[in-house]
Amino acid sequence: MPPASIAVLGGGLTGLSSAFHLSRRFPEAQIIVLNKQTRFGGWVRSDRVQLNGSGETESSVLLEAGPRTLRPNSKPVLELASIVAEGLYQDQIHLLDLKSSLITVPKTSPAAKNRYLFSPEWPGIQPIPTSFSSLLFSPLGRILLPAVAREPFRPRNRPPHLTDESVNSFLARRFGVKFAAMFGSALVHGIYAADSRKLSVRTAFPTLWEAEERGRGSVVAGFLRPKKQKVEEYYELGDVPEAMRDVSVYSFKNGIGTLTEALVHDLRQKNNVKLYGGVSVTGLRANPISKKFEVSISSNETLHPTHVVSTLPLPRLRHILSPSAHLPHLTSNPYSSVTVVNLVFPASSSFPLHPAGFGYLVPRPSGGYSSHDSGILGCVFDSSATASQDSSRDVVKLTVMLGGPYPISPEHLEVPTILRHLSYHLGVQLPEPLIVRVHQHQECIPMLGVGHLDRMAELRAALHREPWGGKLEIIGAGVRGVSVGDCVESGREAGKSWTT
Ligand SMILES: Cc1cc2nc3c(=O)[nH]c(=O)nc-3n(C[C@H](O)[C@H](O)[C@H](O)COP(=O)(O)OP(=O)(O)OC[C@H]3O[C@@H](n4cnc5c(N)ncnc54)[C@H](O)[C@@H]3O)c2cc1C
Repeated sequence: MPPASIAVLGGGLTGLSSAFHLSRRFPEAQIIVLNKQTRFGGWVRSDRVQLNGSGETESSVLLEAGPRTLRPNSKPVLELASIVAEGLYQDQIHLLDLKSSLITVPKTSPAAKNRYLFSPEWPGIQPIPTSFSSLLFSPLGRILLPAVAREPFRPRNRPPHLTDESVNSFLARRFGVKFAAMFGSALVHGIYAADSRKLSVRTAFPTLWEAEERGRGSVVAGFLRPKKQKVEEYYELGDVPEAMRDVSVYSFKNGIGTLTEALVHDLRQKNNVKLYGGVSVTGLRANPISKKFEVSISSNETLHPTHVVSTLPLPRLRHILSPSAHLPHLTSNPYSSVTVVNLVFPASSSFPLHPAGFGYLVPRPSGGYSSHDSGILGCVFDSSATASQDSSRDVVKLTVMLGGPYPISPEHLEVPTILRHLSYHLGVQLPEPLIVRVHQHQECIPMLGVGHLDRMAELRAALHREPWGGKLEIIGAGVRGVSVGDCVESGREAGKSWTT
């Protein structure tokens, strides 16, 4: 029987995507979204900030505290943008805003092509090679080229019964220890703010794991072999793929928050959806007699939905479940804390503050982390990719990410200390910033450790048993994957089994 009432716990990207898709799939069901913060969107947060305290709207910059650009390869996100833009809005002005505010970065632009890496082994940031000549002659090419060229000739070396391993162990096995420590750790810093020695390769980079299988032991050979054709899921993409042709990354004029705001706007129009911000869920229990749930909320009320979708961080969910609820693995993965620092500088007419490009990543320190290290995971050159978000062309916008696997002290976050490290990395003396915004995000990104997929399969199996009977779904960044695409997709999948 289709659900009569659904409670969606959490109003971040996953919760909003769930409510959006559930409301279309079950137009007769009453859907309620409960979010602890008054603001919906969770870690997605885009703020427009006036420059020099000026009241003029022309003089402002857009600062992201969470995700800042999206890749067009995630069809669920494109679908969401397309459906929301294509007319579910009653109010056509908002609709036009969303469509006309799309910002795309072509694959051919320097912001798409040039990515850098900083290592104390070399002075300044080094370009990650993209051309044959840079592969041959750049310092990073001297690590990259032999690692990739030798990989097909390394013997097949996955142990027969291995079902998962860390990203570092996988890359070291196939491409060598140096490659894994330099490129693998930097990539994992940039995407997961995690230690590549702990992150599950099957969860984080399934295409690598599958390529090794397809290539009978060689990842490079696997990528050269055609993939087995899978039945393609249907997505309502409208004319969005046309707009995304040859696009490397995209965002919106008012940032990624445009997407969550558009979802909130859309959901508020729907008669069968209610959004409650500033409401914490404090308890969750399945009542075996009434066959309904008991969802306790901070106002001391109890709701009785027939179905529940939890998008809460898993340790938070464990905390609100009754002690007798035997759901496994909710506290298996730690969560990384990340500090995001937005910096806006006056542009210099005499010298650029950074080269044109997307930004740079920092690999893990080769001698182990010490408190004297910067704790910087990477830095994004926002002005290169998304300059059109800002009304002033006389500024340079950077975003620095610190922390993740490395402990951060208040000294690490002192602005002169950050500027000193950045100046050293970029090889320029950075001027006094016009704006500094520091966001300390506690436990914001789940670290999906080795064996994660098997643990989540056990969790799903437990949810099909009593007292849950398949009516509680647990999704969100800590279950399927942390990217915006993963979160939107898991919201899209929520409740699919409830149709029968
Ligand atoms: C700094 C940063 C940068 C990122 N950059 C990128 C990027 O560039 N690209 C990309 O693809 N991904 C990026 N991500 C990842 C992505 O943004 C997140 O994984 C995603 O937004 C998580 O969404 P979510 O809804 O699953 O969780 P959350 O955003 O954590 O939402 C959970 C919601 O639950 C609510 N909640 C918590 N407890 C309760 C309770 N007891 N009762 C009711 N509500 C509760 C919270 O208020 C919150 O709104 C980034 C993440 C961070 C933190």
